[in-house]
Amino acid sequence: DVVVETPEAAPAPAVSHVTVSSRDRVIFPDSNVTKGQLADYYQAIAPIMLPWVARRPVSLVRCPQGRAKQCFFQKHDAGSFGEFVHHVDVTEKDGSVEPYLYVDDADGLVACVQMGTIEFHGWGSQIDPLEKPDRLIFDLDPDEGLDFEDTKKAAEHLKNQLAELGLVSFPLLSGGKGVHVVVPLTPEAEWPAVKDFADRFARALSAAEPDRFVAVMSKAKRKGKIFIDYLRNQRGATAIMPFSARARSGAPVAAPVSWTELRDVNTAARWHVGDLDELLARAGSRALAGWGVADQLLPDL
Ligand code: ATP
Ligand code: MN
Ligand code: MN
Repeated sequence: DVVVETPEAAPAPAVSHVTVSSRDRVIFPDSNVTKGQLADYYQAIAPIMLPWVARRPVSLVRCPQGRAKQCFFQKHDAGSFGEFVHHVDVTEKDGSVEPYLYVDDADGLVACVQMGTIEFHGWGSQIDPLEKPDRLIFDLDPDEGLDFEDTKKAAEHLKNQLAELGLVSFPLLSGGKGVHVVVPLTPEAEWPAVKDFADRFARALSAAEPDRFVAVMSKAKRKGKIFIDYLRNQRGATAIMPFSARARSGAPVAAPVSWTELRDVNTAARWHVGDLDELLARAGSRALAGWGVADQLLPDL
């Protein structure tokens, strides 16, 4: 007998233990994606999404009536998510203790969708060790009027500057307008040191090319420039997780790409919920082998 092997095939999605109500409710009116389809997307994408999102405090963009209606950003566990969504107590700056949400399996993702979630945003650290980030993110936000080419060039510039410091980085299409440059870290340095590094790095780039980059929040100073949002790197801040859907027109998703692939991509919303099969197939591709993985520490700046 011939044994047919299917190398690198994504594991078949397990059956969900979560009952999704109102499966036919249209969540993305512009592209007719329903709540049931979104739940199925997360169930199927879970094997390649969970390595990034599991056991990490998450904030959710919930739009119970669909993305065209009211959405809200939920950071804390209100106790209504059921047995598959967990909480971790986090002591805030002011000393108060707040329950943050985390998931550790596909049921957790789907349980969030059942509660109206579209987007999953995550901390830069896992719940353990919570105080030691395992990634840095530079969120590149182009001013209106700049095109995606400018954003791509900026991302490449960050990649090269990081490489000069000995740091490997990877591009993530946000699914919206920009690109996130992701720097995996071995969790060793604590939040203040990581934030300080991100802050200095972003300021150095904008000081070197003030016409191109800006590292301060002020909208007025961003005209025609790319804002390097380094503030994703402070304790409690979040960024969109790989493979999360976005509550934007067309049901786009945040998608990892390689630096080589990025050259041929012309929008940050290149893939959508409906591209599930392609996303799963890409995950096993040579281009994405090792994406987001590196054993590295912050250099001294
Ligand atoms: P784009 O590429 O279009 O900029 P993005 O995900 O980078 O997409 P931003 O607005 O630049 O969007 O990112 C803001 C980040 O701040 C989000 O990734 C999210 O994690 C976080 N965020 C979003 N909404 C809130 C909110 N209401 N409160 C706190 N943090 C938020
Ligand atoms: Mn952004
Ligand atoms: Mn931003």
